Amino acid sequence: MSVDAAPLETQPLTDFDELRRSLVVGYVVTAITAVVAVLVVRTDRGNVGLLSVAGFELGIAAFLAIGRSLPVWVIRLSAFAVAVGVVSAVVAFANPMGPAPLYYIWPALTCGHYGTRNDARLMMVFFAITFGLALGVAHDPQVPVITYVSMLSIAGLVLAVQHRDYARMRELTRQLADAAATDGLTRLINRRAFTDAFAREVERACLVGLPLSLIVFDLDHFKQLNDRFGHAAGDDALCAFSSILREQWSAGDVVARIGGEEFAVVLFDTDFSGAQDAVDRIAQSLRHWSLASPMILTTSAGIASLGPGTSSPLEMLVAADRALYVAKDAGRNRVAQVGDRAARELAPAA
Ligand code: GH3
Ligand code: MG
Ligand code: MG
Repeated sequence: MSVDAAPLETQPLTDFDELRRSLVVGYVVTAITAVVAVLVVRTDRGNVGLLSVAGFELGIAAFLAIGRSLPVWVIRLSAFAVAVGVVSAVVAFANPMGPAPLYYIWPALTCGHYGTRNDARLMMVFFAITFGLALGVAHDPQVPVITYVSMLSIAGLVLAVQHRDYARMRELTRQLADAAATDGLTRLINRRAFTDAFAREVERACLVGLPLSLIVFDLDHFKQLNDRFGHAAGDDALCAFSSILREQWSAGDVVARIGGEEFAVVLFDTDFSGAQDAVDRIAQSLRHWSLASPMILTTSAGIASLGPGTSSPLEMLVAADRALYVAKDAGRNRVAQVGDRAARELAPAA
């Protein structure tokens, strides 16, 4: 996870299982309609064809219903090509044609929602060819030209509008997920996103058997700093500390603002001594920042590394918090680890 605002784990943008289920419904509904059309219209021409299409559709519906782990390309093919072909067959066999071409709206909507631009282009080409064949071969070519042109443009419009709206919705969803995971002031990930990311990192470390450390930082006497320099200056100090953390770590490390003036860093493949070094580097950078600022800012830190008694995210967080209190009680500007009674002093304040 990036140090910068990292999105929450979101659903995949295109949910092909949802598409699979919606196709089952679509194929069953169009099959039933074809059967009803045969029963109501009772013309002999095309009845066998319509009933065959209905049977084919029910077969595909059953195949999609059973195949819960079908490859994505099969689902896409069923949605964007087979559906168009089936509607074209219905158009060819329906006699009189009636509103049968309106069924093209179904694959158009589906493709606008779930398909890529290329899917949409291919679907429209396939639609134009098979619809043209259905009209030309099975119906009086004089009458359907206007039907052909209107239906192509209606389905094209439906597809384009649906595609645009769904793209907007996806972008909004992404922005909302980002906002829900990001701290507005420092742009680090917030406590909620940290909890998820930390759990994932602990799981990953346990899986591969690598060390993992958690550092919790709490800025010292921050209330006094606010009282003396004002809240806006306090905000600047929080942003400065976030920048120091950002400079130290990059993509792959979890760096979060987990409270008002509390920050947490998860260090993958880093044991306790590596985490101690990291805290020292942060304290040095903070010292340099303080030298160039009217404010003097120090931090206390608590470290917990993955191990017996600290094998879950919650146990590690509790242990790091306890260590932080030891560092605070020992006089601040100190670091302690889980189980420590005393804390080591960090870079002396500027
Ligand atoms: P200690 O060394 O024991 O941690 O003392 P402290 O003053 O840092 O801790 P305390 O919990 O008493 O106060 C934390 C302060 O952090 C109080 C609160 O106003 C300030 N704070 C929290 N969030 C923000 C923020 O977003 N901006 C600013 N400017 N201050 C904040
Ligand atoms: Mg605090
Ligand atoms: Mg504090």
